[in-house]
Amino acid sequence: MPTFLSCFPSRKTLGDEDSLAPLSGGGCIFCNVSKEKGFNIVYEDEELIAFHDRTPRAKVHLLIIPRRHLVSSVKELRREHIPLLNAMTDLASTLVPSNPPPKTGFHIPPFSSVPHLHLHVFSGKHTFIGRFKYPISGISGKSGDKGYGWFVTPDQVIKILHVGKAVGLGRG
Ligand SMILES: [Zn+2]
Ligand SMILES: [Zn+2]
Repeated sequence: MPTFLSCFPSRKTLGDEDSLAPLSGGGCIFCNVSKEKGFNIVYEDEELIAFHDRTPRAKVHLLIIPRRHLVSSVKELRREHIPLLNAMTDLASTLVPSNPPPKTGFHIPPFSSVPHLHLHVFSGKHTFIGRFKYPISGISGKSGDKGYGWFVTPDQVIKILHVGKAVGLGRG
């Protein structure tokens, strides 16, 4: 069984990931994604890589990352990254053509365990802990605003970027 990298914002897992990071000389673990390093890669091209989360929080739990270390988190995204976000969500629905469509989202720092932009893709029933760790806020809000929360969907991010704002923990 290959070992999969997990992104899970708990203190315990943070420690686990920190202990892996120095392997690349303090570099970023998601900048070094490869099958040799134990990642279960399901798709890769020039721009994007998709792989299974090591500890899935739903029946299907993928991570999609830009190959290059463009930004460390969703907070640093700007309007020029909208095409990248669209490419990431397109890939999510291509890789997980489920009905209903997969849920996708980003952690908002400090609730982000790997500082390399990555999109979580979930399909199927969430585990109990998955429901707790990846709540998607603001979905039922009248305006569709992000609302308060530490997990934000690409649609919510694009909406924020379109008006020239950045994603933060406060009200979007
Ligand atoms: Zn994450
Ligand atoms: Zn990186």
